[in-house]
Amino acid sequence: MMNISLTVPSMLEHAEKYFSKKEVISRTASGITRFTYADIAKRTRRLASALTKLGVKRGERVGTFAWNHHRHLEAYFGIPGMGGVLHTINIRLSGEHISYIINHADDRVLLIDAELVPLIEPLQEQLKSIKAYVIMTDDDKLPDTTLPNVYHYEDLLNEADENFEFVADIDENDPAGMCFTSATTGNPKGVVYSHRGIVLHSMALGLTDSAAVSESDVTMPVVPMFHANAWGLPFAALWFGANQVLPGPMVTPKLLAELIENEGVTLTAGVPTIWLALMKELESGSYDTSSLRAILCGGSAAPKAMIRTFETKFKIPFIHAYGMTETSPLVTLSRLKSYQTELPEEDRLEVRSTQGYVVPGVEMKVIGKDGEVKWDGHEMGELLLRGNWVADEYFMDERTNEAFRDGWLHTGDVVTVNEEGIIKIIDRTKDLIKSGGEWISSVDLENALMAHEDVFEASVVAVPHDEWQERPVACVVVKEEAKDRINKEDLMEFLQPQFVKWWLPDDIVFMDEIPKTSVGKFLKRSLRDQLKDHLKTTI
Ligand code: AMP
Repeated sequence: MMNISLTVPSMLEHAEKYFSKKEVISRTASGITRFTYADIAKRTRRLASALTKLGVKRGERVGTFAWNHHRHLEAYFGIPGMGGVLHTINIRLSGEHISYIINHADDRVLLIDAELVPLIEPLQEQLKSIKAYVIMTDDDKLPDTTLPNVYHYEDLLNEADENFEFVADIDENDPAGMCFTSATTGNPKGVVYSHRGIVLHSMALGLTDSAAVSESDVTMPVVPMFHANAWGLPFAALWFGANQVLPGPMVTPKLLAELIENEGVTLTAGVPTIWLALMKELESGSYDTSSLRAILCGGSAAPKAMIRTFETKFKIPFIHAYGMTETSPLVTLSRLKSYQTELPEEDRLEVRSTQGYVVPGVEMKVIGKDGEVKWDGHEMGELLLRGNWVADEYFMDERTNEAFRDGWLHTGDVVTVNEEGIIKIIDRTKDLIKSGGEWISSVDLENALMAHEDVFEASVVAVPHDEWQERPVACVVVKEEAKDRINKEDLMEFLQPQFVKWWLPDDIVFMDEIPKTSVGKFLKRSLRDQLKDHLKTTI
C-alpha cells in the first residue's frame, strides 16, 4: 500500500477543494461573522505565510490565548501548515501557570484575543521566549497595551500571501499541536499531538458509532479550543465539510440556546456543568432545539438525571463520552449496542449513563490489586490505555515515568468493566473516599443527589475523620425556586434507600456555587481544603 503522511494541512486542502461553500459562523467580541471554507483557507494560508515572515521555524511553538472563533480555527491549521506547533493555552489558569507553560513550551509567537491582553500584560517580564505578540481583534486599531513587539492579526494577514504553500515534507509523526493539562500538584503537564494522531483521531470522530461528524452537520464546540483541541471537533468538522459554529467569548446558556436555534446546530459538545446550565435555560425559556441530533458530554461524569431530562423532556439525544487531554481526547462513548435498544427504558438509561466502550483504535485494560480485573461490573481497577492518538510522554517532564509505563498510559481513573466491555468511572484515584478501609464512590453519591428534583449541582468529597480515616461530605447547590422548601434531612432521607448506611454522607453543606476548575469541572481540591476540619466541628 502507499504510505502517505497523515498531516493537518492536508485536511484543510481537502476542505478547500470540496467544501469551499460550507461555512464557519464565528462569534467574536463584536458580533457574528460568517466565512466560507474558501475564505478560511485563504486566511489560513495568509496566517502561515505571516508566521513564516515573523521568523517562526519548523518545529517551533506558537501559542494561542483565545476563545472559540474563526481566527483560532485559522491558527489550528495555519500553524501546523507552516511547520510550527499549535500550543493552545488555557486562559483560565493562574498567571504563574500561564508563564510556566509558555516558557516550558518555549513559545515564539503568541496569538492573543484583544480582550485577553490584560491577562498577559502583567506576565510579560517573565515571557522571554516570545518574540512577537499578534493581537486578534475586529477593530482596525490595536488596543492600548504595554506589550512589546505587537502586531495586528488582520494587518499581518493583509500583507501576507494567500497562495502560500504549506510545508510539503511534513513527517506524520512531527508535532502539530500541544496542550497542557492541570496536575493535582505542581505545574501543568504538556501533551504533544502529532499530525498523525490528529488525523486518526478526527477520523474516529467521523465513525457512525462514534460522534458521526459528517458533511451535513452543524457542529458547535462549547468546550474551549484550549481544552484538548475542543475535543478535536474543529479539525474533524472542517475536514468533513461540516458547517461549524464557534461561540466566542463569555458564552451564556441563553446565547447557546439562541445559537442552536438560529444556526440549526446539530452536534454540540461540552462538560456537564454547561449542560446543567443549558437545561435550566431550556426549562425557563422557549427555544426550538429540534435541529440537535446529539449533545456530546464529557470531561466529568454526566449525571443520569440530566441525561434523562435532555432525552425525555427536550427530546435531545445525549452521548456521554470519556477522554483525557493525553488521549486527544476521545476514548469511549456510551452508545447502545443494537441488541440493547430493546431493553426497558431504565436499563437503557443505565447503560447510557456509563462512560461506554472504547472506540476502534484505542485499547484498554483495567488493573486491580491482583492484576486484570474480571469484566463483572463490580471489581474495580485503574484504567490503562494505549492507541494511535494516545500520548506516550509528557513534554520534557519527569512525571512521564509515573503515568506512562510498559507501553500504557496509566490514567489514574478507577473503573469497573461489565461483560459488554462497558466502563463505569467510579472516581479519580485521588477522589475516591476511603472509609474504614473500604471505598466509597463520590460519583455515585453525586449522581444520586443530582437526581433530586430540587438539586442543581452536587459534589461529594472525602473529609478527614478520626475514627474512619475519611468520610464523605456532600456539597449541594439547590435550585433557586427550591431554596425555602428543602433541608438536609430531606436529602438524607432521599439518599437512604439508595445506599448502604456507611456510604451516606456524614453531612450535607449547602452552597451558593460549587467552585470549578479552569475547564468547568468541580474543583474538589478546593472543597477538600474548605472542609478539612468540618467533621471535627459539626459532629
Ligand atoms: P482533562 O484532561 O482535563 O480532559 O481531564 C481528564 C479526566 O477527566 C479523566 O482522567 C477523568 O478523570 C475525567 N473525565 C473525563 N471524561 C469523563 C466522564 N465522561 N466521566 C467521568 N470522568 C471523566
